[in-house]
Amino acid sequence: MQQTDPVSSLKGVGEKTEKLLAKLSIYTIIDLLTHFPKNYDIYENICPIALLEEGKKAAIEGTLVKEPTILAKKNLTILQVRLRDASGSILLTWFHMPFLKKSLHLGTSYIMRGTVMRKNGMLTMDQPLILSKEEFFHRLLVLQPCYALTAGITNNGLTKLMKQAIHEIDFGEDLLPLEIKKEEDLMDYKDAIKAIHFPKDKEEMLKARKRLVFDDFFYFTAAIQLLKQNKSRTCNYHKIIFTEECKKFVDSLSFSLTNAQKRVLLEIKQDLESAYTMNRLVQGDVGSGKTVLAELALLASGLNHYQGCFMTPTEVLAKQHFESLSKDLEPYGLHVLLLIGSMTAKEKRERYQLIENHKADIIIGTHALITEKVVYHNLGLVITDEQHRFGVRQREALAGKGTFPHVLVMSATPIPRTLAIILYGDLDVSIVDELPASRLPIKNCVVDTNYRPAAYRFIQQEVTLGHQVYIICPMVEESETMDAENVISYTQQLKEIMPRNITIAYLHGKMKPKEKNEIMEKFLLGEIHILISTTVVEVGVNVVNATVMMVENAERFGLAQLHQLRGRVGRGKEQSYCIFMTGMQGKEVKERLEILQHSNDGFVIANEDLKLRGPGDLFGIRQSGTIEFQLGDIYNDSNILMQANLAAKKLLEKYGENLFIKFPQLENKIGHYIGQISL
Ligand code: ADP
Ligand code: MG
Repeated sequence: MQQTDPVSSLKGVGEKTEKLLAKLSIYTIIDLLTHFPKNYDIYENICPIALLEEGKKAAIEGTLVKEPTILAKKNLTILQVRLRDASGSILLTWFHMPFLKKSLHLGTSYIMRGTVMRKNGMLTMDQPLILSKEEFFHRLLVLQPCYALTAGITNNGLTKLMKQAIHEIDFGEDLLPLEIKKEEDLMDYKDAIKAIHFPKDKEEMLKARKRLVFDDFFYFTAAIQLLKQNKSRTCNYHKIIFTEECKKFVDSLSFSLTNAQKRVLLEIKQDLESAYTMNRLVQGDVGSGKTVLAELALLASGLNHYQGCFMTPTEVLAKQHFESLSKDLEPYGLHVLLLIGSMTAKEKRERYQLIENHKADIIIGTHALITEKVVYHNLGLVITDEQHRFGVRQREALAGKGTFPHVLVMSATPIPRTLAIILYGDLDVSIVDELPASRLPIKNCVVDTNYRPAAYRFIQQEVTLGHQVYIICPMVEESETMDAENVISYTQQLKEIMPRNITIAYLHGKMKPKEKNEIMEKFLLGEIHILISTTVVEVGVNVVNATVMMVENAERFGLAQLHQLRGRVGRGKEQSYCIFMTGMQGKEVKERLEILQHSNDGFVIANEDLKLRGPGDLFGIRQSGTIEFQLGDIYNDSNILMQANLAAKKLLEKYGENLFIKFPQLENKIGHYIGQISL
């Protein structure tokens, strides 16, 4: 059986199962085998009934002390027995399995395994597995794989398919060059696949996992390095010189740049003037002042008679950048233009004309900037704001609109520098690691809903002082399945509580872009005092006058996300406040949120969040769908990432252009990632 054979070539996989497996994105034998276990279940020794712990899985051995009873309730048949050992007894229940009765005999001894629960004060197990002695000892202390499932597919069923596939598949040759396998002390691919599903012990599982994670990262970093090799030679077709006027602009700012901003600005300036095209990532925590750097680069590009683009993930943010940049840069004779999806066809057509005729120097907008219809006259600089919201492909599409324009990518995503350099391998990395000194640290508190009246009094007081407030709710509207605050009902309720002269409005992602823009504009102008919103305001919006951020059901958000939300306040000179309101009272919730109280450093918070929640989509790298790793997690497996990166580097250096001649099998694998990242 070949890796690419359909799953239907396995015994027991008919049309129905095939459809169910497709729901798990399993189509071929290798898809099946790379559907790796989420975790493992370990059969431990038999536990005396008296020592069972609630909530844990355990195996027990005892004698049936009561004739099995069957209860029929509506559509439900319930089979119950009582099992006793020397230490005590326990009630066992099965639903929908009356046929088991035949195999359960009074006075006979059984081994059962299930999750221990307490119902009406009594110890019970629901649906325990009945095991023969032989079966039990066969599984004892062995790691049993637990898979992500879908309705209709059981873990047992999937496990059996895995066994069959492993037994019958022809893995062919290991694709990883032997010299790397030796040097890095890695397992064979086929052994690793076997062992990740059915490891002898934990050690073997970890070794198998390491090999598979290494593969992911090795091909990926090799792809990045190859791309970089081919790319770094692009000449600078658009020399952009920072003129006196740029200095004037810096002097005219109401603040002086932080040292970090100055350093990054210099790096950008050197790139733009150098012999090669700029490809730079600027990372900096929320509020570190990245926009002004983009603005300066756009000013310089405009003054050098090139068009510059500034792409944002949301229309709200695009409009905001447009407002402030046109005010700032028109005095320098530059024409700033806004282009967003919600404009009418006519408005868009007019703008396409202006862009094509170079009547616009700086174009700000959303994805609309990369549609086919936009033709730039002389695109010299492309900037994307909050890059983690874009796929790399979109960034590329924009750059593709010119002949090798300079590319500047701005991101508030906290990735350690060492990893950023590998992951965004084609980009040079600058970090704005300093917040403006004029800022007062935000005051935080974590409270439960009892505190709400006090919070409202405080909010009212801030509004009276002329400040503005954000309140974030996790949901848009009422839902039957989730108990959490929603924007719409919340707004109604708050309007009834607050005095009439306080203007309250809401914002959420399901609104029409036009409505959203209107609301955001009013908030920017100070016409709305309290804005109730979902996390749509999370990205980049800047309302200096806002001093309070209150987050309802804060327990529902990731820490990194809460940190981003908090970044919406504390952007001016005034003291700002952040209130994390928790709907659920629990020690863990409180502990987690208190991390935010103690740290204001996005990077520290991201680390803590990872420790508590485990890896996930924190970095938005998987989320953006640009890079998919099967097992590897860039953060938790950062050691393997670095190791794989080095190994790829060595191999590329050793074989250079002959790499694919020497190892033709790598072309496909690396090519797969090149396709995915297409940097
Ligand atoms: P972010 O890095 O999150 O994109 P912004 O660029 O939106 O941050 O900047 C946040 C606020 O800080 C803006 O109001 C901006 O004008 C202001 N700002 C930027 N640089 C400085 C500075 N050096 N000193 C004081 N305020 C600054
Ligand atoms: Mg920003």
